[in-house]
Formats: sequence, structure tokens, C-alpha cells
Amino acid sequence: MTDHRSEEAKQWRRLYKGARWRALRHRQLAIEPLCRFCIEAEEVTAAEVVDHIQSHKGDHDLFFDPANLQSLCKSHHDGAKQRIDKGQNVIRYDASGWPI
Ligand SMILES: [Zn+2]
Repeated sequence: MTDHRSEEAKQWRRLYKGARWRALRHRQLAIEPLCRFCIEAEEVTAAEVVDHIQSHKGDHDLFFDPANLQSLCKSHHDGAKQRIDKGQNVIRYDASGWPI
């Protein structure tokens, strides 16, 4: 029996290792060097992670679409964004305390 999920994960890892992604990631961090979620809360944090706004699920068009990318700090990427990807509702607040 083949493990479909790990096969899929292997494909994705290959995408992230490719030169095309590395160039795209580099470009995204040059355009948007600060975490987008932090800026919404009027905080300035260097972005470390280039995130897919709409999860690509292995779809090359979404994966390589520059308009589908955003820069996030690690804690936002690992926190809020993971919950959004899992379909959970995440309420974020702007600097004045209003939900975004
Ligand atoms: Zn952040």
C-alpha cells in the first residue's frame, strides 16, 4: 500500500527546493521585508517566511503565483496562519483593538 500523504509531502518539498521557488521567495522578501500581520497591528517585525495566502495543495499555478504570496514572521506563520489553513476562525485585531 502506498502512503499517499507522504508521497504528496515529498512532491511539495521538491517544489520548495526548486530554483524557481527560491527566486520567487527572494523576490517576495525584497518587495515585502516586513511581516504583513504585524504591520496590520502596527508592529514592525522582519518577515522570515513567505506564505501562500491561499494554500496551494500542490497546485503549481497557486504555488508560483506572486500575487498569492505574503511575508510573515515565524510566529505569525506558525500561529495564526496555521489555524486559518486548518479552517479555524482566527480573529485578529488592529492597533486600536478592532477586529480586522
Ligand atoms: Zn508577524
